[in-house]
Amino acid sequence: MTLFGKQSVTEPISAMVRKGRMAHGFLLTGEKGVGKQICAKYIAKSIMCENLQDGVPCGACRQCRRIDEDVHPDVITPERSGKTLVYSAETVREMYDDAYTMPNDCDAKIYILPDCESLQERTQNILLKLIEEPPEYAYFIFTAQSKGTFLPTILSRVITLGIPECSDEECAAALREKGKFTEEQIAEAVGAFHGNIGRCESCIDGEGLEAAQLCRKIVGCMAASDEYGLCTALNEIGESRDKVRDILGMLDKVMRDVCAARLYGENADRKSVV
Ligand SMILES: [Zn+2]
Repeated sequence: MTLFGKQSVTEPISAMVRKGRMAHGFLLTGEKGVGKQICAKYIAKSIMCENLQDGVPCGACRQCRRIDEDVHPDVITPERSGKTLVYSAETVREMYDDAYTMPNDCDAKIYILPDCESLQERTQNILLKLIEEPPEYAYFIFTAQSKGTFLPTILSRVITLGIPECSDEECAAALREKGKFTEEQIAEAVGAFHGNIGRCESCIDGEGLEAAQLCRKIVGCMAASDEYGLCTALNEIGESRDKVRDILGMLDKVMRDVCAARLYGENADRKSVV
């Protein structure tokens, strides 16, 4: 199986599998939609696949399929709780106890903890005990937008892999492979969100497209010194934090492009929506 544009993740993992020296703890970092969860599943498949080829999981055997369908009994994703959706100390303590129970029907047990933003220090200290001396069969995969949220003691015990965006072409190929989008939709989404496959998908599903159009309007008003238009466009963003974050993120890339164009001319690498 292939993951588009993720060689910087798949190659070191395959090397560990080939050498029979798989690490027990991973931290995958990168912005929302970039593919952290898919990479976490790739690592799980690399550990459990029944039909590895040169260290690469097949993506088709019983184990790989159950991981893809989120029904593998030995691949566990603990629940987050509370208003801010964090892993509570209690949840991590339960995971600690569970980790010392043998796997159900594999030789491995894998815990995937997505979106580990805002993990409290005392929760991390319980985690630390677990990843310091894990049972031989247990593996832990954490994902977060940045590694800044983790204690240095945790970071020193996991392999941190930054998940890169793919190129526009790889992203378009990945969207095409899903077989549910038209070429026009793919072009529009990649034009707005470039190599971020997750964001391109949600853009086509509606939520991101409106943000991209609004971003274009804001930039147009700024370029035309249209203060009234700018105020109207900013007002249209509304109160959704996610939408504000999305648009600010896009504007940030526009500013980057403007600076690059100013310094290096029109041929500078463009990554923004306009
Ligand atoms: Zn497999």
